[in-house]
Amino acid sequence: MLETAIVVKVNEGLHARPATQFAKLAKEFSCSLQVFRGTTCADAKSAVKLMLLGVKQDDQILLRADGSDESDAVRRLLQFLSEPTAGVALARHDGNGGSGEQAGVTELIKAAGLAEAAQTQQQEQKQSLVAEGAAASEPSVRGVAASEGLAYGEAFVYLPEALRAARQFIEPDEVEGELARFGVAFREAIAALDTQFETMGQHGDIVEALTDVAQSDEFSGAVKDRITSGWDAAAATLQVGEELAAAFLAMDDEYVRSRADDIRGIARQVTLRLLGRDDVSLASLTQPCIVLASDLSALDFARACVANIKGLVCIKGSATSHLAIMARAHGIPAVLGLPVPEERLREATAVALDGAQGHVWFDPSSGLRADFAERIAQDRSRRAALSVYRDVAPVTRDGRHIEIAANLGSLTEIDAALEAGAMGVGLFRTELLFMDRRSLPDEDEQYGVYSQLAQAFYPRPVVIRTLDVGGDKPVPGIVFPQEDNPFLGWRGVRMCLDRPDVFKPQLRALLRAAVVGNVRVMLPMIDDLDEIRRVKTLLAICAQELSQEGVTYAQPKLGIMVETPAAALTADLLAPEVDFFSIGTNDLTQYVMAVDRVNPNLAALYRTDHPAVLRAIGMVCEAAKKANISVAVCGEAAARPEMIPVLIGLGVNELSMSPSSVLRAKKIVSEL
Ligand code: PEP
Ligand code: MG
Repeated sequence: MLETAIVVKVNEGLHARPATQFAKLAKEFSCSLQVFRGTTCADAKSAVKLMLLGVKQDDQILLRADGSDESDAVRRLLQFLSEPTAGVALARHDGNGGSGEQAGVTELIKAAGLAEAAQTQQQEQKQSLVAEGAAASEPSVRGVAASEGLAYGEAFVYLPEALRAARQFIEPDEVEGELARFGVAFREAIAALDTQFETMGQHGDIVEALTDVAQSDEFSGAVKDRITSGWDAAAATLQVGEELAAAFLAMDDEYVRSRADDIRGIARQVTLRLLGRDDVSLASLTQPCIVLASDLSALDFARACVANIKGLVCIKGSATSHLAIMARAHGIPAVLGLPVPEERLREATAVALDGAQGHVWFDPSSGLRADFAERIAQDRSRRAALSVYRDVAPVTRDGRHIEIAANLGSLTEIDAALEAGAMGVGLFRTELLFMDRRSLPDEDEQYGVYSQLAQAFYPRPVVIRTLDVGGDKPVPGIVFPQEDNPFLGWRGVRMCLDRPDVFKPQLRALLRAAVVGNVRVMLPMIDDLDEIRRVKTLLAICAQELSQEGVTYAQPKLGIMVETPAAALTADLLAPEVDFFSIGTNDLTQYVMAVDRVNPNLAALYRTDHPAVLRAIGMVCEAAKKANISVAVCGEAAARPEMIPVLIGLGVNELSMSPSSVLRAKKIVSEL
């Protein structure tokens, strides 16, 4: 028998992928192999047991081998554990505001010499309230206005039901049959998983990891044991799924914890087949309808047949949550944070919603539906009339040129942005590239995406934001600590500077894509001059490495998001250090007002038009003007008709928004 202690150097420890690779390697040897962490021990040939052991990078463990090939096994496994990138190669390259303080807003517009515009805007607002009159007579529920537009139609209730087995136990002579039924259901579920991820373009990596867990003794082995001991196949599958998910949830590693959902998902899919039932799925929407849900993740949305979502109503979510941003990007009217119980959604057969005002009508009368049909037709012709602005570069009547750019999260939105006449990309949220998957994209993949984006818009500028995760945006593949205040925590550039292994591939990809000629790089969550300088140093190191490797690159313009009070208050100190500012009003409002941007209960307090936020924006514009750099707004306020004159009056010279708002913004600016 051999025993060796070792300090684990594998990046982030033995979480899902490295544990799977380590177990695979261990299985090549006939000797018994065990890993000890403190007093707990796991079979080195079981990926699931290894994951549940929770071995982290820099943990000391003990490897015990017993058998004829023990020394070979120990040598190979020690080598694996001492390599930071072990197990990685295969995969881990592996609104409500406005009403109360109108005086403050009007003052600022007046101060900027745009009083006339203020009047026009106020009139437009009144008209939209009058137009609402017909619907006002019918009772509605009010939530957060998350994506404007009107919609009505049949309800599609997306509330996956809890599954229950019809019986708990079986007779001894049924065991064989139940085992066979489980085998068939299991194989079908894995095959379906395979197809599902294939259509998402994330095939091998994800399916392999999930299949490993599903096929482990801890899942399929445990279900079979339970059936053999007299359990019904569906009851056994659900029970084992819950127990295993609970074991994963108890781990302190975020990435491992998130595997609990995968286990539940697999157990659910197998059980549905055993019960002969279909699951509700947004991928199978066959006709246009209004989706009603308690919550929707970015992944649910990515899998959905978006063309058939006419409107979206959710109990959770807020105006600046990612769900709202995705709904706006696709031009889907949405009301989130709706204060109703799930039963209310379940009972609805038809729904009407006004995404600009945040109203939802359950089972609307025929009168209201007719009213909506008329207003939607008017809206459509208003939008059609806007198409004359597609090629317009808007100029205010006092001669100011304002760039109207698009906020994008993926390459699939390029066509919509070009179609809407976006004059460039003011914000490309790279985190969506990191989120819609289970492992980090490598440098080459990122380079491919950034350069395609730049080419699609050339010569118009494309602002690519470096990874902004943390807060409400965790990313699989990066282990985030448990934080009491994640929005005040390890997010954006703070995380990136601590993780050059994550940041450098992105910076290298950006330097390479800058060769196209129109790429600008933007840093999120900047607090301090020192952070900008540290990024510059890292960029210089990346550039030097690329030139030593003979890889072509170019220096992009470098700018920052101004979204913390610290950055706004010291904008005069930061401006000389960068090429441009872009004000992130979503976060700036949250931090200036001390109001959580995703808390629907605080929606009334979350006000970008509050004088405090407007003063901060004014300071940033003044600093930008003095330093002769451009200043954009890329938060959601940039698209709000009543905010556009205010922002321009304060000195903003670019507005960036979801493609569906671009034409209207061009019209508003042209008429100022
Ligand atoms: C913002 O904070 O305004 C912004 C544009 O960034 P995000 O919404 O992605 O945090
Ligand atoms: Mg932000």
